Amino acid sequence: MLSSNIVKELQGIVGGENILTSKEERICYSYDATNQQLIPDAVLFPQSAEEISHVLRLANSEKFPVTPRGAGSGFSGGSLPVEGGVVLSLERMNHVLEIDSENLIAVVEPGVVNLDLQIEAERFGLFFPPDPSSLKFCTIGGNIAECAGGPRAVKYGVTRDYVLGLEVVLPTGEIIDTGVKTLKGVVGYDLTRLIVGSEGTLGIVTRATLRLLPLPEAVKTMLVVFNDLSDTGRAVLSIMNSRIIPSAIEFMDAVSIGCVEESLSMELSKDTEAILLIELDGESGAIDRQSAVVRDICMQHNAVNVRVASDKRETKDLWRIRRSISPSLIKLKPYKLNEDVVVPRSKIPDLIAGVRDIAGKKNVIIATFGHAGDGNIHINIMVDNNNHDELRRGKEAVEEVFRLTIGLGGTISGEHGIGTVKAPYIGMELKPHVIDVMKKIKQTLDPNGILNPGKIFQGK
Ligand SMILES: Cc1cc2nc3c(=O)[nH]c(=O)nc-3n(C[C@H](O)[C@H](O)[C@H](O)COP(=O)(O)OP(=O)(O)OC[C@H]3O[C@@H](n4cnc5c(N)ncnc54)[C@H](O)[C@@H]3O)c2cc1C
Repeated sequence: MLSSNIVKELQGIVGGENILTSKEERICYSYDATNQQLIPDAVLFPQSAEEISHVLRLANSEKFPVTPRGAGSGFSGGSLPVEGGVVLSLERMNHVLEIDSENLIAVVEPGVVNLDLQIEAERFGLFFPPDPSSLKFCTIGGNIAECAGGPRAVKYGVTRDYVLGLEVVLPTGEIIDTGVKTLKGVVGYDLTRLIVGSEGTLGIVTRATLRLLPLPEAVKTMLVVFNDLSDTGRAVLSIMNSRIIPSAIEFMDAVSIGCVEESLSMELSKDTEAILLIELDGESGAIDRQSAVVRDICMQHNAVNVRVASDKRETKDLWRIRRSISPSLIKLKPYKLNEDVVVPRSKIPDLIAGVRDIAGKKNVIIATFGHAGDGNIHINIMVDNNNHDELRRGKEAVEEVFRLTIGLGGTISGEHGIGTVKAPYIGMELKPHVIDVMKKIKQTLDPNGILNPGKIFQGK
């Protein structure tokens, strides 16, 4: 517990209206999307890098932990205060500071919600390519800390590809600027890349300079139904081999489809095994030609139905279906072990077949869906967490899925990060001396271990 003297000092730094200490209020900041609960001793809403710097200096002298938090939508426990102390919410630092439409750059505070940046950029005919399915509520700070991706990653890449520079408060309180405001820049080590994806363990992002792109002239979205999983995998590979790069190729298996079927408003036969949501963007003539090619490829691979959205509303409806999968899975079981492995695209059919075998062997329901275009498949092992035997079988399935993924040349997390949830497994992928190098970096920047302790690595 924080002493009353520390709470008074924190009030002095951020102001009485920017600190929560009652239990009811603290409970609101004790969750993320993993459904775990860890209650902080206090919640702070700083408004500037200087205030954060003071908080971190106090945390070092009084030795209490500080956990940064955006919207708390993370899937790996990153924003949960595992050792108590302060949750430092960036939600009130939520201003888009600048859109430089000549240089295609945005400067934002970390608490800006991804969709709000999209809306602001659109006014200038621009967009920010990273589009996690949580874009309506997740923050840019959280996107940077997790190096979030989204459906558009297959064509445009992930958050790290759009971060030019950062203002960061280091765990010991120094405020530094990293990176550049230009498209190129190679002076010194790339500290920007070190911070991106560091899960709030190496510094707190207080301002970000981001790269924007011009909005494409046209977009075409189609939903393609398959009765055979291997046909679906082959269709994805053939599309990519045709040298057309869609801006999204999202995959849903039969279990996922079952959860959102009523919103599909189309007749599906009981043989439906998979659906692809494919989007093309670019110059309108090119999009028409490319969509005809993609349609032909899907038909050659035995697609049973291809529905092309006729207007913006239908496009939105198709995306709503895809974005509702994750929240709809609760219909199956109250709890999910949510993994986001990545394999080389050509190995997706092997991954999906292997996951099916694991589901059968461990007698658990597994829903698979996600970003087929870049090989990042979400594997949701559905369990009742009050059923200890089912939970145990689910956890065993997780380990088998990771073993399968690594065997296929993949990685155990494409975008959700390690946090607490995957910390026990990083040794399956990283060699001990690599983990040692990472721990040394952490120790150098955070000698007292006060910033987001208990994440990524198990033990000290
Ligand atoms: C329905 C749903 C769909 C999702 N879809 C996707 C998807 O398609 N792609 C994807 O990548 N993710 C997805 N996610 C996961 C999640 O939304 C992302 O990881 C997102 O980037 C987290 O942002 P947040 O603001 O909620 O951060 P939080 O969950 O609050 O925090 C995440 C991590 O970032 C750190 N952090 C937050 N702000 C800062 C800061 N300013 N400085 C330093 N560290 C900070 C925290 O300490 C924590 O470690 C989804 C989640 C949900 C619930």
